[in-house]
Amino acid sequence: MPKLQEDKSKCSVVGCSNPHASLHRFPASEPFRSAWLSFIFHGNVPTPVGKVIFVCAQHFKDDCFCNLRQYKEGFAERLCLIEGSIPSIFGDDEQSTLVSCK
Ligand SMILES: [Zn+2]
Repeated sequence: MPKLQEDKSKCSVVGCSNPHASLHRFPASEPFRSAWLSFIFHGNVPTPVGKVIFVCAQHFKDDCFCNLRQYKEGFAERLCLIEGSIPSIFGDDEQSTLVSCK
């Protein structure tokens, strides 16, 4: 079966092209699912949403992560997203006061 070479490790947020940030898996349960979707697609959620969806760390506030400090200090490889967190920030390169990705 031919498989599309889809780049899975990429942020799905419309307009986001940050390849370096930590990526977070789309939640499986409602109501978080809907909240993530409307954020990712700016309210124009396509149906069906069939592909693997990731959102990178820059769309979350700092307090959405339980180990941000460890991550920044190099003690954690991945950021840990607190369950139930909803992405809320459209990352502008100009204003990267958030998680600075390396
Ligand atoms: Zn992103």
